[in-house]
Amino acid sequence: MIIVESIEAIKEICKVPNDGRVIVPTMGALHEGHIALLNKAKEFDNVFATLFINPLQFNNLDDFDAYPQTIEKDIDVFDQNGVDVLFMPSKQDALNQEQIKTINAGPAGDIWEGSFRPGHFDGVLTIVNRFFELIRPSKAVFGLKDIQQICLIHSKLSSVHNVEIIPVETQRNPSGLAYSSRNSLITEDGKQKASIIFKALKAGKEYWKESSNLSGVKQKVSEVLSTEPDFKLQYIEAKPLSDLAESENDFSDLFREADLNHQVIMIAGHVEGIRLIDNIIINSNKY
Ligand code: AMP
Repeated sequence: MIIVESIEAIKEICKVPNDGRVIVPTMGALHEGHIALLNKAKEFDNVFATLFINPLQFNNLDDFDAYPQTIEKDIDVFDQNGVDVLFMPSKQDALNQEQIKTINAGPAGDIWEGSFRPGHFDGVLTIVNRFFELIRPSKAVFGLKDIQQICLIHSKLSSVHNVEIIPVETQRNPSGLAYSSRNSLITEDGKQKASIIFKALKAGKEYWKESSNLSGVKQKVSEVLSTEPDFKLQYIEAKPLSDLAESENDFSDLFREADLNHQVIMIAGHVEGIRLIDNIIINSNKY
């Protein structure tokens, strides 16, 4: 594995556009979810990963400061999981004011998760756009754990850069808790309590199958979550994915089932003061 830190060096390596490169952007503190993305990327040639804790996407300085960092360990994990080139620029280089173009997520970045994290998706899109410009991949792998993120990247960046966005299902621990870098900030007891999130999502999905009633789904999810007093709910959304779409067929290649009849249930809340998010897609056999 080659480790590249400078902008000039990554440009030199990637000077041929769309030359079979696949990119897996991460903020490090790697876990099973990231490894699933790397495994997917390995199906293609030339795996590029990025490790960059992007300050633009944190709307809270304390959250940025507390974000877990395990760089040495991460380098080994990237190396052992088929990464050919690891790009890990400095903050100064990656966010160089003269070179970086700010991307606005538009209205779909202001709803759901965006309404609780103003500017978050602009920050995500800005850095992913920068990595697409520099690395010029033909494919990019993202997790469905961040459903709104992958939809926005698909809408705003995939056709501009001619990059195919490849989704990977959310990876979970045996009790159903979605792997997240932030889980390392929670005790084992807290993680056990946080598994209520997936129980609630599954109950919501079951309720949907019986009723096709989104407000009933929200009520059901809320009931299940309320059985765990140490889970501090921030929001539950149960909405059609088409709310995020820019056009009728926006996600047809992303979700492959050619229509926007998917609904999504999203939950955000805190355990031991750490913010967790999760979601489940309903009305879809595939996910
Ligand atoms: P992050 O390092 O948190 O920015 O995440 C990097 C990538 O990993 C994003 O595409 C996330 O959606 C994805 N990801 C994070 N957690 C999981 C998970 N539990 N399962 C699948 N993908 C994940």
